[in-house]
Amino acid sequence: VLRMESVRKTFGSTVVLRDVDLEVAPHTVTALIGASGSGKSTLLRCANLLEEIDDGAIWLDGEEITDPRADQDAVRRRIGVVFQAYNLFPHMTVLENITLAPRRVHGVGRAEAEERARELLERLGLAAKAGEYPDRLSGGQQQRVAIVRALAVRPRLLLLDEITAALDPELVGEVLAVVRGLKDEGMTMVLATHEMGFARDVADQVCFLEGGVVLERGTAEQVFVDPQQERTRRFLRRIV
Ligand code: ATP
Ligand code: MG
Repeated sequence: VLRMESVRKTFGSTVVLRDVDLEVAPHTVTALIGASGSGKSTLLRCANLLEEIDDGAIWLDGEEITDPRADQDAVRRRIGVVFQAYNLFPHMTVLENITLAPRRVHGVGRAEAEERARELLERLGLAAKAGEYPDRLSGGQQQRVAIVRALAVRPRLLLLDEITAALDPELVGEVLAVVRGLKDEGMTMVLATHEMGFARDVADQVCFLEGGVVLERGTAEQVFVDPQQERTRRFLRRIV
């Protein structure tokens, strides 16, 4: 679904990603782990063309999206993103938040957009909240609405950046359960996370980043149980 080849990203004189290769197969979950500042968010932002890369190339479904001739808006429409802070529009109800992009950007009719939204809300246990404003919801509920909003446009790929980082510990579980459910339905996802237990549980592929380099990658089993690099071992020892 997604392929990155020799991606390099700099901010001024700082190299944030160097020669990053990444291959994300359909219906798989890739977890990006690594210390703060290692480049996880930047990698996700590059994949969504929120950041322009300095070198290398990125493909989505076989199409080179970093080609200057690629239609960036069309690319972004195929990728759903959810960030740490839920960023729902406060003056819109849950239903309005979710149907905004399908209606405005994808030209879906109101009835159809609302039907899809209600179906997703139902699936994520939020059916009763359609008419509420975001400030009347808990953090976990808001984050689940943000996930529904990302799914409303039927993306090919979902990018999730520390989606539980801003949540109280007791609300983390409900959001992670949603991600697990999406995985079971076959959604392709790339997520940056500090929740190692979750990464181990849900990820098909784990990439350990340090200083903008993918130092180690493998199955969750390989990276967490039998890491090959001393740096990976040190990182895991410190965090788990
Ligand atoms: P965290 O776990 O804290 O979220 P991260 O792995 O997501 O960290 P990034 O946010 O990708 O790390 O940042 C990687 C490096 O790039 C950091 O050194 C950061 O300071 C730098 N960086 C990120 N965005 C910018 C920017 N817009 N301008 C300059 N430097 C940036
Ligand atoms: Mg980050």
